[in-house]
Amino acid sequence: MTFLKNKKILIFGVKNHFSIAWGIAIAMYKQEAKLAFVYHDIRSKKNVTLLAQKVQSNIILECDVTSDTSIVQLFKKLSKIWNKIDGIVHSIAYVPIIQLNKNYIKVINRKNFLDAHEINSFSLVAIVQVAKKFLNNKSAILTLSYIGAIRYIPYYNIMGIAKASLEANVRYLSASIGKNIRVNAISAGPIKTTASYKIRNFHKIITISKNNSLLNKNITIQEIGDVAAFLCSDLSRGITGQIIYVDTGNNIV
Ligand code: NAD
Repeated sequence: MTFLKNKKILIFGVKNHFSIAWGIAIAMYKQEAKLAFVYHDIRSKKNVTLLAQKVQSNIILECDVTSDTSIVQLFKKLSKIWNKIDGIVHSIAYVPIIQLNKNYIKVINRKNFLDAHEINSFSLVAIVQVAKKFLNNKSAILTLSYIGAIRYIPYYNIMGIAKASLEANVRYLSASIGKNIRVNAISAGPIKTTASYKIRNFHKIITISKNNSLLNKNITIQEIGDVAAFLCSDLSRGITGQIIYVDTGNNIV
């Protein structure tokens, strides 16, 4: 039996087939979810359209989460295709590359600090504010975090602080949104993606993570996808406001 049959899920954050959001899309498709995709920049549109076809979706919409107008337009367009939705996956990250390859105190500045919080944390609540009236009873919201939110990780810098904000956002959002909608985060182990490869020495993080892993391996986007599918399904109806580690056990080592 499939556990997302007929659930309509909107996915932000597929850039290419390395994206964590793509692993999530595949896992949800296997559970018979109906999927819609959001791309950020026009350069990603073709890629996202081709990937969406593989999971039988032709709903591909544009949105820049730094713009309220763009978010409103997105849901206006989506509402012409779907009346209501059952879930949102927020799998978004961005900071200028300089913030991920130099000493934190030397490169941080007011603009990059504020932008990092806007894109990586505020965008979650900005999306949900607009999406709320389209969300069915028993909907689920899911975002992606990283252990750099609670520990020092070399060169993760401002992203770590923005992820700490995102994790607090999950708790406050889950408490304030109402009784029937759940909000959770997956704190994923490191994976080579377009976003993560900007972090200086990321290959070392990958190696250390594998060495520390209780399962003697690094996590895959498929494994994250399976947990994401569970967290957006009724099977996880007792879970909200949580940061769930999907990292082959790294966080306890
Ligand atoms: P990715 O580059 O594939 O995905 C990042 C996505 O963010 C892209 O699709 C990009 O278009 C989107 N994005 C950036 N700015 C945006 C904006 N203004 N509006 C709309 N979309 C925007 O990288 P990924 O590693 O799959 O990242 C997905 C999530 O997983 C992020 O939240 C990231 O922090 C988190 N994460 C990644 C790792 C890892 O090691 N890769 C580990 C833990 C958590």
